[in-house]
Amino acid sequence: MKDEGVEREKIQSRLSRIRHKIIVLSGKGGVGKSTVAVNLATAAAVAGYAVGLLDIDIHGPSVPTMLGLETPSLTGREGEIHPVRLGSLKVMSLGFLLQNPDDAVIWRGPLKMGVIRQFLSDVDWGDLDYLIIDAPPGTGDEPLSLCQLIQPLDGAVIVTTPQRVAAVDVRKCVSFCRRLSVPVLGVIENMSGFVCPKCGEITRIFPGEGGREIAADKKVPYLGSIPMDPTVAEAGDKGKVFVYHYGATATGKIMQGILAALFGDEKDKKD
Ligand code: ADP
Repeated sequence: MKDEGVEREKIQSRLSRIRHKIIVLSGKGGVGKSTVAVNLATAAAVAGYAVGLLDIDIHGPSVPTMLGLETPSLTGREGEIHPVRLGSLKVMSLGFLLQNPDDAVIWRGPLKMGVIRQFLSDVDWGDLDYLIIDAPPGTGDEPLSLCQLIQPLDGAVIVTTPQRVAAVDVRKCVSFCRRLSVPVLGVIENMSGFVCPKCGEITRIFPGEGGREIAADKKVPYLGSIPMDPTVAEAGDKGKVFVYHYGATATGKIMQGILAALFGDEKDKKD
C-alpha cells in the first residue's frame, strides 16, 4: 500500500495546477447531480476555459454514458493516467476503470477511499482553469474524504429536486459544507416542473419549492431551477451533452444561464 503522506503530496502537486475546483453535491442519488456536472463542465469548456471533469460517483458513475464515452482507450503509465479528451474537455471517470459497472457498489469502505485517493493522485490533468467534480451522493464518508483531499475547493454546487423531502437533504448538504469550511456556491433545483414536449408549457408536478426555500433559510445563493424536460433525459442516454446539442431550446437557455453564473469572470480566461 502506498504511503499516505506521499500520496497526499502528489495530490496537492497535481491540484496546485488547477485554478478553480468546484464540487457538485446532492443529498441523494437521482436528482440530476451528474447532469449538472456534465453540463457545467461542457458549458465552461465551450466558453473557452481549460476544463476537467472528474466523475467520482462511486455508486454509479454515469458520466461515461452521458458523454458517449463508454469504451474509451485509457493511456498512461505506472502512477499516471491521462484523462480522456472530448474536444477540449478532459474527462476522467471511475466508470472508465470498472470492467463491470456494478463492481464499485460492492467495495468496502476502506477500498473505496483508497480508490478515491489513488484516483486523485494519479490523474494527470496538467494545467486547468476549472476542475468540476461529480461527487458520490449524500454526506457520508466518501464525499467527506473528497472534500478533505481536494483543498482548497472554490465551493460546492448543491443539486436538489423541489419536494420537501429532498429539501431535508439540502439542509444536510449545507451543514456538511459548513462543517468542512467549503463555501456553498449555490443550490440548483432540478426537475422543477415538466416541459410539455408538444407545446413547451411548463407544468409543476412536484409540490414545494424545496431548493428556493432552503437556500433562503440557510442564506446560501439560489442559482435557479431547471425544468424536467424529456430531452434532457434522452440526451443523457444518448451521450449528447444537453447544453451543447440543445442549448437553443427553452430548457437549454435556462440551464446555460444558471451554469454560466458558476464559471468566472472573463479576466480568468486564457487567450
Ligand atoms: P444523479 O447524478 O443525481 O444520480 P443524474 O444526473 O444521473 O442524477 O440524473 C438521473 C436521471 O434523470 C438521468 O436519466 C438524467 O438524464 C435524468 N435527468 C436529470 N435532470 C433532468 C431534467 N431536468 N429533466 C429530465 N430528466 C433529467
